[in-house]
Amino acid sequence: MSDFPLPILFIMAVFFTMWLILRKYHQIEQRKRALPELNAYLYANNQTEPRCSACESTELNDVGLTHGKDERRIVSCAKCNTMLYRVVPPEREE
Ligand SMILES: [Zn+2]
Repeated sequence: MSDFPLPILFIMAVFFTMWLILRKYHQIEQRKRALPELNAYLYANNQTEPRCSACESTELNDVGLTHGKDERRIVSCAKCNTMLYRVVPPEREE
């Protein structure tokens, strides 16, 4: 293996890095999909108005699950970036 051509090593390194990035991205996606819905979140944290469960902030950010205009929203804390809960549009609710 010591006389492996350098370009091949380089390409392998690039692919390995891409694989690591994809794996990280996938983990974040999984975590988003595992988030509780708003009502479950409020109930679990004994809240009536949603606020951050980590730092108590009421400043929240919401982003689309897969893209900016996605109706499924992921709400996270604007201060500490903790992902808090997801909002599912009514027609998708079970
Ligand atoms: Zn927070």
